[in-house]
Amino acid sequence: MSFKLPELPYDLSALEPHISARTLEFHYGKHHQGYVTKLNELVQGQDLENFSLEEIIKRTAGDNSKIAIFNNAAQVWNHTFYWHCMTPQGSGLPSPAIKAKIDDSFGNLEQFKKEFKEAAMTQFGSGWAWLIADQGKLKIIKTGNADLPLAHGQHALLTCDVWEHAYYLDYQNRRMDYVDIFMNQLINWDFVEQNYTHATKA
Ligand code: MN
Repeated sequence: MSFKLPELPYDLSALEPHISARTLEFHYGKHHQGYVTKLNELVQGQDLENFSLEEIIKRTAGDNSKIAIFNNAAQVWNHTFYWHCMTPQGSGLPSPAIKAKIDDSFGNLEQFKKEFKEAAMTQFGSGWAWLIADQGKLKIIKTGNADLPLAHGQHALLTCDVWEHAYYLDYQNRRMDYVDIFMNQLINWDFVEQNYTHATKA
């Protein structure tokens, strides 16, 4: 069994003008594909080869001897999740159910955006900002490099990739502009709701 690059849920140009086709050509076509290829090389012939991506992540998390497998498996998962966090018809308002949870956890939608943006901006170097469900509450966290909520028993609801490769071609060093656009134009709230429903059933 080997892992395959999952299809993008939209065309390469679908997120323009916010995220260019050129960024997605590299980010999806080269970086995401690269993690898939590397993961397949690393697990070939190993016991881990026959496990699902999620199982590989859980079984290698925190194990220094398997850090390369963890990093590549986690990056495959993170990117597939990230593509679905965005949609050409994005942002607007969350559904009433998610809005109520956000109000309950952060006060209001503006405060949620402010705190998420803060996490994305203060992640030093490469990493991810996340909205997660943790014991019935919504929380915002940030992780470095390939690390992800699944490795810590948490449920991811939304993520923003803050590796430079996610925004450098379109925004150069202006991470803030990219994160602003992500928050205000691209969030797929239907996907957040699906993830919340799944998290509360799990
Ligand atoms: Mn990335």
